[in-house]
Amino acid sequence: MKIIMLGAPGAGKGTQAKLIAEKYGLPHVSTGDIFRANVKEGTQLGLEAKKYMDQGLLVPDELTVRILLDRVSRPDCSAGYVLDGFPRTIPQAQVLEKALAELGDQIDFAIDVDVPDENIVRRMGGRRACVTCGATYHMEHVPPRTEGICDTCGGELILREDDKPDTVKNRLKVYHEQTQPLIDFYQKKGVLRVVDGTMDMKDVFEAIVAILG
Ligand code: ADP
Ligand code: AMP
Repeated sequence: MKIIMLGAPGAGKGTQAKLIAEKYGLPHVSTGDIFRANVKEGTQLGLEAKKYMDQGLLVPDELTVRILLDRVSRPDCSAGYVLDGFPRTIPQAQVLEKALAELGDQIDFAIDVDVPDENIVRRMGGRRACVTCGATYHMEHVPPRTEGICDTCGGELILREDDKPDTVKNRLKVYHEQTQPLIDFYQKKGVLRVVDGTMDMKDVFEAIVAILG
């Protein structure tokens, strides 16, 4: 099963993608996580990506597509995957569609986690990410056992640079201009499913399971 998670930054794509990956035994592929891991390691790719990420802009398609196609061509992705944060532009979606078509394959579901902008700004301000393993928390909704410390690895929890309010506003603008058109794109392909992302996390997940079966 090949699944795409759509939705604004902070809508809960990563949260739900992890739950889907666990339940259905699929790899969770997040381009944001791949970029952040490269930034942390100081690779050439990380240095290039950081220039855009810090401003709330998209990393150029050419670079992003190369990273994604390389990742999904690995053996663990042969039976499917959950894509989180990719595609984010129509050209990215077209490249993915073409690569899959060459294998006689296609996306099964594009799940739009729908959350209005006003909820997003609040969510992002409360999100905390582990600098070591990337796990995410929310100060109100998913607090760690000890404040500021990751439950999983003991790493330090921080407010991501791109989750600061000014950058969030930029990211939302970029989302509406460049990513939202994908909803129509996948609607036309007949694979779009919309879930109400303002519900409790477990209710959002239940709605997704009802779709995936
Ligand atoms: P995305 O991957 O779409 O950017 P995340 O999954 O990281 O979003 O979620 C953004 C923030 O909102 C996180 O801090 C997360 O814990 C929290 N969150 C996710 N889903 C919900 C929900 N249904 N209700 C409240 N908070 C949520
Ligand atoms: P995310 O963790 O998905 O919110 O992504 C964090 C940042 O990484 C984004 O704001 C972009 O700068 C960059 N990024 C992640 N995925 C993509 C993508 N598919 N296309 C372009 N930039 C991306």
